[in-house]
Amino acid sequence: MKRSGLSGAAAVRTIAAAVEEGPGPARLLVILAAGLPLYLLSQWLAFAATIQPQNISVFWPPAGVMLAMLVMTPRRHMLFVAGLLAIATLFCNLLAGRSAGFSAMLVFNDIATGLAGAILYRKFLGKRSPVTGIKPFGLFLLVVAVSAFLSATVGSAIVNRTFGVPIAETWDHWFGAMALGILVAVPLFLLLPASDLLRSRWLSIDPEALACVLGATVFLTLAYGGFVQSPEIRIASAIAIIPLLLWVAVRCEAMIACILLSAVTVLEILASSHGKGMFVLQSIPAHGSVVWIMAEFTIRASAVLMLVASRSEQRALEQQRAHQAARLVSIVDAATDGIIAIDEHGIIETFSKSAEQLFGYAAPEVVGENVKVLMPAGYREHHDGYLNHYMKTGERRIIGIGRIVTGQRKDGSTFPMELSVGEAMDGARPVFTGFVRNITDRQEAERKFRELQDELLHVSRLGAMGELASAIAHELNQPLTAITNYAQAARIMVEKNSGMDDLPAILGKTAEQATRAGAVIRQLRSFVTARQVERTNQKVNQLIEEACALAVIGAREDGIQVKIQHGKNIPDVRVDRIQIQQILINLVRNAADAVLQGKQRVITIASKATASQVIIDVTDSGPGISEEGARNLFKPFVTTKPGGMGIGLSLSRGIAEAHGGTLSYHPNPSGGAIFTLRLPVQEPTGAELEASDTRDSHPRDPHH
Ligand code: ADP
Repeated sequence: MKRSGLSGAAAVRTIAAAVEEGPGPARLLVILAAGLPLYLLSQWLAFAATIQPQNISVFWPPAGVMLAMLVMTPRRHMLFVAGLLAIATLFCNLLAGRSAGFSAMLVFNDIATGLAGAILYRKFLGKRSPVTGIKPFGLFLLVVAVSAFLSATVGSAIVNRTFGVPIAETWDHWFGAMALGILVAVPLFLLLPASDLLRSRWLSIDPEALACVLGATVFLTLAYGGFVQSPEIRIASAIAIIPLLLWVAVRCEAMIACILLSAVTVLEILASSHGKGMFVLQSIPAHGSVVWIMAEFTIRASAVLMLVASRSEQRALEQQRAHQAARLVSIVDAATDGIIAIDEHGIIETFSKSAEQLFGYAAPEVVGENVKVLMPAGYREHHDGYLNHYMKTGERRIIGIGRIVTGQRKDGSTFPMELSVGEAMDGARPVFTGFVRNITDRQEAERKFRELQDELLHVSRLGAMGELASAIAHELNQPLTAITNYAQAARIMVEKNSGMDDLPAILGKTAEQATRAGAVIRQLRSFVTARQVERTNQKVNQLIEEACALAVIGAREDGIQVKIQHGKNIPDVRVDRIQIQQILINLVRNAADAVLQGKQRVITIASKATASQVIIDVTDSGPGISEEGARNLFKPFVTTKPGGMGIGLSLSRGIAEAHGGTLSYHPNPSGGAIFTLRLPVQEPTGAELEASDTRDSHPRDPHH
């Protein structure tokens, strides 16, 4: 049972698909196979709805079936179909006992007005059903009026010429029958190819529709069966079916509403025209009361169909919105960043899949909650304040900017996250959308990178000192020799017990030399030991002094003149002392290497300050650097020295930039090179100093 039902539905689906988008001949075949029998049936209905003794049909659905068939037919087959319909019409007219001449004239009228209506319909509405929207339905009414007018005018003229009946007696009947026939048939048949009901939903007709169909059936059985005799009750019942039709129009699928409307109309007309229907017809109905019945049916059908059209339009719109919403949700959920939307009070409205993964909450748990639940204590308290502040002043702290903050998961653990917030308007209401990225991994990678960099800097310092080893040994040798000499002199004095008065001075000098040697070693040690990076306030001139003390060891022996020009009123800089000294030592050692190549051997280290920067120039009188060399100067592993590594300048620039400064090269106008180190000046207030001290003690704390 079920199987055959399903395969039946599949067959209908195939046919519907062929009508909708199949190739021309297949479509034509389906239209003819389904349309011609329906056309003949509707002819029979039309003749059956004939009221005696006027011999007038009050309902002419064949006009509607023909219009629908011609609208669906591929354009190049329209005349062919019209020809077949003409034959069918002729056949029906002859069968009804009409003369050949009269029948021929009627056929001509039917086909001509049918073609005109179909062309007009296609022009206005294409092939869609008129009940898909209010505007198409309005245009459809126009087509109905034009077709009925043409047909009624030509038709009554034919009747007038053949039988001498005055046009006024037939025109309004003819017009009403045509209008009602087209109105009821076209929406139904044009819905067929695209109908959901035909495609897949036979089994899921909603119970409301089913109840209405049953109700209508009971009514019509009573009506057609002629069980009710009282004229008042018959009229009351005819009116009572109107709400039922409106209900179906509003609640049910367009297809069901159209089927029910057609069924009710057809049955009521058949009943009425046989003296049994809801409408009271005298045994010999007056012209006026027949027109009245047709007008009532036509208006009722128009009202119901208009409602169906407006509901279809609304449904299509709702469906489109639902599609858009679903697409948005799928986009939001597909994003790798967590997406959280909140309203102006901080209440969470959207919580994406990735946000669920990041925070460990399921969306329903947090939607409707304040976004504070995702923040650790210490931040929660301020969030409302931020939002209020923004809503009042429009001043942005994070909106449109983005920063690194801390999130708190459901289990209470926290993680660093990059948050960027965008503002959108939902009507007049602001909505804030946060994009959240967990940066724990990135921070870990950055930390490792920094560690590696520190190690590299350390190794490079060791290397630099290795190069200086013999010079340092020499530097230490002097005080040691002096100490030895002083010590020997002192021993001799004590042994000979003479010149004892000079002894304190000699011992003092010994200590002095030992201190000098100790200082060199201390500096050396502090320069080469592996250590934590630490930024503190430093005096620039002192930095230069200390760095030069190491860098120029051995330089004087080579005849190099080192000049230090301290600028005045130079503000402190907040730096890692050893790293900045590493830059300076590197620059001075490079300069020393360079000046050795020339006769004039002068290196100048000069400091000065602007409002925002401290500038240190290291100038030499060496050969300078070629243009090609200058282009690659700061690239790693570029060296012209036999034992050089070529990483000094690249590391130095890295250090300068990490401090918010720069390191650059310019040729010295009087020959040689000038390297310029610029460092930003910070003149922190006491409070900021405190704050920044805390920052340094938690260098990777994202809140600061
Ligand atoms: P290294 O000293 O190991 O070669 P650096 O990165 O410190 O590495 O220097 C790269 C190159 O830049 C040097 O080999 C040298 O050719 C050039 N250079 C650096 N400073 C000067 C200078 N003051 N005068 C001339 N050339 C220089």
